[in-house]
Amino acid sequence: MAYSKVILKKGKEEPLLRFHPWIFSGAISRIVGPVNEGDLVEVVSADQIHMGVGHYQIGSITVRMLTFTDGLIDDTFWMSAIKQAYALRKSIYLAESEQNTTYRLIHGEGDHLPGLIIDIYEDTAVIQAHSVGMHYSRTIIAQSIINTVSGIKNVYYKSEVTLPYKANLTSEDGYLIGSGGKGIVKENDLLFHVDWIHGQKTGFFVDQRENRKLLQYYAKDKVMLNLFCYTGGFSVYGLQGGAAKVHSVDSSGRAIELTNENVALNFPVENRHQAFAEDAFKFLDNATTTYDLIILDPPAFAKHKNVLHNALQGYRKLNAKAFEKIAHNGILFTFSCSQIVSKEQFRLAVFSAAAQSGRRVRILHQLTQPADHPINIYHAEGEYLKGLVLYVE
Ligand code: SAH
Repeated sequence: MAYSKVILKKGKEEPLLRFHPWIFSGAISRIVGPVNEGDLVEVVSADQIHMGVGHYQIGSITVRMLTFTDGLIDDTFWMSAIKQAYALRKSIYLAESEQNTTYRLIHGEGDHLPGLIIDIYEDTAVIQAHSVGMHYSRTIIAQSIINTVSGIKNVYYKSEVTLPYKANLTSEDGYLIGSGGKGIVKENDLLFHVDWIHGQKTGFFVDQRENRKLLQYYAKDKVMLNLFCYTGGFSVYGLQGGAAKVHSVDSSGRAIELTNENVALNFPVENRHQAFAEDAFKFLDNATTTYDLIILDPPAFAKHKNVLHNALQGYRKLNAKAFEKIAHNGILFTFSCSQIVSKEQFRLAVFSAAAQSGRRVRILHQLTQPADHPINIYHAEGEYLKGLVLYVE
């Protein structure tokens, strides 16, 4: 194998034998051969046993494994990885479905491709690279999508803000293949505008598909408040479910525009919905309406371990405000998408908020990410979305 060699310290091959895809800098004894950020490297144990091949990167996670066999990382590898991911989405009836034209095709480690995210928006795929190695492989990845996924005409690359800034790459967002794209997708038969060029992340939060559907089921005749609404996903499902009134709130004016556009796209004549460009905490403080159904889906409050404590306080404060305002026998959907906040920690923060409010609270559902965001069983870190549906007396 022509790759430079990363030699592990004695015993540090253990996690790799269990297919954990990350090698931390502390596990490495030495590197033989020249190596630059983004290069493919061969990983061997202290006894020189071949462990696999991965992308090298400067930082605490030094190698992200792509294979645990002695196979090469060539065009065939990429083609086959994309094919496997597509086969999974077909077997869960998301790809080539009538009701859904948007789904996640590649979910990083969950699809054995650490550092890579690909979302499908009808005729357009959006690639997001989180590692330099994936950035270098973007052309073959784009070609593999076109060759594999039926109906894809455009591939947009959006990694300016997700690549490690220290890598000093001159990456520009733009189309790798095609241009334009329809920009309207179907999710559970509801329509949404998706703006991958200006929108947050890849343009739409596909990970809430199933949780939005559950919300729809509980929305009938309810007065509903959707906080941190972004493109208005939960609001549109609430209206579809027969909510009496829906208020959507986001601090971003553009998000409020998108929410209004998406409501109009599905319900051209609609007077049950109102959207507010305001801070969610302030909105709750000043709310005079009593809501039967509240959704809290804030952005990740913690992205690094050292701010975990503040994040948990943030969840507690936000949920406490919601418990204070929600109607008797109301239903609260509350989420955390911070990867470093565990299910138990999040539940504890919500528990503290409930206790502070003095209300009797019961858990109706415990929610997570959908099947197109699979969790590699050897990489528990991949479980990031947590939600609780609570009945508040
Ligand atoms: N629920 C959405 C996704 C939410 S993303 C969906 O289903 O698609 C988080 C959103 O929170 C972003 O749109 C961001 O603009 C908004 N946001 C961040 N801080 C906020 C704050 N303090 N008050 C209100 N909205 C906020």
